[in-house]
Amino acid sequence: MKNSLAFTGITMPCAPASMQNSTQRRRLSQSIDPLSWKGVTGMVKTPRHRASAVVMGYSVFVHRAWFVIRIRPGGVILVRARGRVQRPTGAPGASNPPSAVTIRLLATVAQAHTSSPRPDSHEENPMSDTMRAALDDGNGIVSIHQNPMPQRFPGSALIAVKQIGICGSDLHMNNERSRQQTLPSGHEPTGEVAEVPEFEVRIRPGDRVAVETIGSGKACEKCYFCRTGQYRHCIDKAEESGGAFADYMTRTPLGLHKLADNMSWEEGALVEPLAVSVHAVRWGGMKGGDTVAVVGSATIGLAAIAAARAQGARKIVASARYPQQKEMAERCGADLVVGSELGELEDAVQSLTDGLGADVTIETVGGNSMAPLETACAAARSQGTVIVVGGFRGTLPYAFLPPMLSELTFKFSSCYGIVDGKHDYDVAINMLADKNTGFNDIVTHTVSLDDIEKGFDLAYDKTSGSVKVHVTV
Ligand SMILES: [Zn+2]
Ligand SMILES: [Zn+2]
Repeated sequence: MKNSLAFTGITMPCAPASMQNSTQRRRLSQSIDPLSWKGVTGMVKTPRHRASAVVMGYSVFVHRAWFVIRIRPGGVILVRARGRVQRPTGAPGASNPPSAVTIRLLATVAQAHTSSPRPDSHEENPMSDTMRAALDDGNGIVSIHQNPMPQRFPGSALIAVKQIGICGSDLHMNNERSRQQTLPSGHEPTGEVAEVPEFEVRIRPGDRVAVETIGSGKACEKCYFCRTGQYRHCIDKAEESGGAFADYMTRTPLGLHKLADNMSWEEGALVEPLAVSVHAVRWGGMKGGDTVAVVGSATIGLAAIAAARAQGARKIVASARYPQQKEMAERCGADLVVGSELGELEDAVQSLTDGLGADVTIETVGGNSMAPLETACAAARSQGTVIVVGGFRGTLPYAFLPPMLSELTFKFSSCYGIVDGKHDYDVAINMLADKNTGFNDIVTHTVSLDDIEKGFDLAYDKTSGSVKVHVTV
């Protein structure tokens, strides 16, 4: 973000002595050029306090908006758009923004004695605050509600969600849910840090991050699993404060991984699913030179192909059900992509390996049938490894005699963590920043949060040509 002086000179009088330790609201007006504060970091001066201001929502044009300014003496002032924002539809200037707009500012000034403990940000801003959240009604209908801002649990940061992917597991969970959601789900987000906990040094407001929502973002950082980097298994996680199908979410800084500067929001929202499969190949023990068979070419299958390629697989064979998945599997690095009918993957692997079978197979489909797991086992060589990433639902019968006779190793993989000294999120971020894989290009449809129901429909209906559906916030 480039500095701009758009806000320099706004003077907000301090509260009089009689109002110390209380809150004062003021309305201010300031005309600014809507282009000049694009990504602005400006200075706001008060007679006694001086702090930086970060304008959230940069790269959008705000034609008429409300802002909330929170002032902590000596601390950070956050300016957050609360009004209607209009994203540019083309190149900068394409939407012909007016040459100047009047931004009305509603400033909440908290004036505290320097000797008294700093109030937390909620005490500074007593306004009841709401945000948009997409909630499933229990019958598969997802719609936008006004929800309270997410709970700031101890040690948590506030993140303004920018983009998020719809995951196959979101579709499964919506199918299985029978009651109205009260908190949004959504676990593939990227966003901008809005507020950080006191004394935080790892991240700052304005940082662009991929959010690890399931493990490290809620982890206690003290238990056995946290101390060994396996945050997904933390035994004392923070209470659920809501997922990312919303304007805002809260997670601890440990779960916020900074994006590389050359990454778009779209690529930021691909970090989570790529990390799932990066973890699968690393936790599953795939080695350089292995022949790998991947069952399924939806998002996690495509990520598995890309991750196996990056980890040095010799040959990769994948199955794909839809033409757009087949094309994307090839772009992600598969040497051969076959259909998803019973026996097709096994036959292809056998012919490619002179009847030996794959060293490693990765099952990414899951669902309500064990057929994908049978395919994974059939494609593996004797004493090979079957990595199970797909989520199988319910209680399903399975014939374990064939894999037992073949001495297969089953390796179950869920989410991510630290493997060989590197967090799977950071490995995924490096892969996406290098832009060497077709996985960067798997997003076929993007909808706005207000249109999220349409996004779910597209994600369900693969005949729409969808591979990955994203939601912009
Ligand atoms: Zn997922
Ligand atoms: Zn823990």
